[in-house]
Amino acid sequence: MIGRFRKKLKSAVYGMVPRSRLLQRGPTGRARVALTFDDGPNELTAGFLERLDELGVRATFFLVGNKCEAQPDLMREYTRRGHQVASHGYDHTRFTQLSWGALVDQLDKTDRVLGRQPTSRPWVRPPHGAVDARVLGQLLAYDRLIALWSYDPRDYEVHDKDEIARRCRPERVSHGEVILLHEGRQSTLDALPAIVGGLRDGGYEMVTMAEMFASP
Ligand SMILES: [Zn+2]
Repeated sequence: MIGRFRKKLKSAVYGMVPRSRLLQRGPTGRARVALTFDDGPNELTAGFLERLDELGVRATFFLVGNKCEAQPDLMREYTRRGHQVASHGYDHTRFTQLSWGALVDQLDKTDRVLGRQPTSRPWVRPPHGAVDARVLGQLLAYDRLIALWSYDPRDYEVHDKDEIARRCRPERVSHGEVILLHEGRQSTLDALPAIVGGLRDGGYEMVTMAEMFASP
């Protein structure tokens, strides 16, 4: 009951935001999906980058500021290889738990370490997708673009690569899907060839979120 109420409240809160400032599903005119990976960089990042190179896929990575600071060389590898990087907060605290000042501080510090982004506004994916009316208002006031997702295969709750790949089968997604995955999970890394192969067999092209939302 409470879960359903929360869901309703969340969609009501999202409804207050202009569609151009809150990204969930991309344009549905073309058979494209965007793979997105949260929570890096970490010890598996090199593996993710290698695997995606082998598969010829560009993805969007939502990175945690303090982890980027700790590994600046690794951080540059994402963009060098053509991936999109964007903010996932400075230390992964839920934005709803931060004061106004602390949230501004997190946004600024993370954007500084990420460097210039090719998009007109800095993008941010709030940790855990946790937002309320105040946080949304503040993100808009600070000119951020809120980048969420449209499909969560819940890769964080399974350790079986085949199950993760099954959850990302082409029949489970549709045009414009933004798929939420997590860096730092070995099973997700191991599932990538099957995920990408399956989506390609289903006729899907994989693009970054920035590419997806830049053109209809
Ligand atoms: Zn996260």
